[in-house]
Amino acid sequence: MTTLAAANRPAAVSAEELLAPRWAEVAEFQPEIENLATIWLRFKDPALGKAYTFQPGQFNMLYLPGYGEAAISICSDAEKRDVIGHTVRFVGNVTRAVSRLKIGDPVGVRGPFGTHWPIEQLEGKDIILAAGGIGLPPLRPVIYHILRNRAKYGKVILLYGARTPADLLYTTQFEEWRKADIDVQITVDRADDTWKGQVGVVSMLFYHFRLDPAKTAVMTCGPEIMIRFVVFEALARRVPTERIYVSLERNMKCGQGSCGHCQLGPFFVCKDGPVFPFSAIEPYFNVEEF
Ligand SMILES: Cc1cc2nc3c(=O)[nH]c(=O)nc-3n(C[C@H](O)[C@H](O)[C@H](O)COP(=O)(O)OP(=O)(O)OC[C@H]3O[C@@H](n4cnc5c(N)ncnc54)[C@H](O)[C@@H]3O)c2cc1C
Repeated sequence: MTTLAAANRPAAVSAEELLAPRWAEVAEFQPEIENLATIWLRFKDPALGKAYTFQPGQFNMLYLPGYGEAAISICSDAEKRDVIGHTVRFVGNVTRAVSRLKIGDPVGVRGPFGTHWPIEQLEGKDIILAAGGIGLPPLRPVIYHILRNRAKYGKVILLYGARTPADLLYTTQFEEWRKADIDVQITVDRADDTWKGQVGVVSMLFYHFRLDPAKTAVMTCGPEIMIRFVVFEALARRVPTERIYVSLERNMKCGQGSCGHCQLGPFFVCKDGPVFPFSAIEPYFNVEEF
């Protein structure tokens, strides 16, 4: 059984360094939708900023003094690292403190952590990205990669859903993505008077196109129930489990495989994930309490 673990982890920082936050400051605070914003961080030490690299799908532990740390995916372009983006939903202790940040405020950063979407291995394939709600930010770096390397991929389809039209993220970018020949299909659970698009769950969008299982890869992130149905639809169309990649969320503390908070069967989601080929986690994914 293989995962995308250590072999894919950048060697930019040592194991010891991964336990100590490095200081960045808020360069931009970009409100997205209600209770959610993108925080753009710049490392205080320019040399560190230059040395820091990440791969699409990885996350940082963001530390707010006096509040603690939260795992937040990197949502920006891996090729543009002057500032690093994190789209944060304000739900708890740390993230509510994030909502009060001002330009110039300090934020500790540990990371990047975890495995990444194997986007370079998938060159030549048709790509389906399936995201629900706050599952889109960890997939946005994949979209940036594809935009830069569009000719290296076949069909690219983004299936994205949110509860209501007001909950959709990054809507101003959809047109640019469509112009680059990405088929952006959007759905909402509940429409309002303004909505003219699809209504229903993300997995339903699989019924709107045909795929060739021999050359399709699926990457999915969002609520676990959505992931289950996306995987179900992909398997029903004979996409092999090795080519279905899921990003999982578990409560995390250390972020680097020492504390065990995020255990899933034999894996630690922080270091063996968050991105897994479904083939690796299938036995544990469908079992309660794992
Ligand atoms: C790999 C990974 C990537 C992630 N990426 C992102 C991302 O890009 N953006 C993002 O916004 N989040 C992301 N998350 C989720 C984020 O890390 C969690 O939501 C984190 O717990 C937020 O920290 P907090 O201190 O603000 O919230 P917490 O205080 O930990 O609260 C989190 C949730 O638990 C509930 N809760 C808190 N205390 C209790 C309690 N006592 N009883 C019951 N429920 C409680 C809260 O209501 C809230 O819904 C990611 C998580 C992982 C593992």
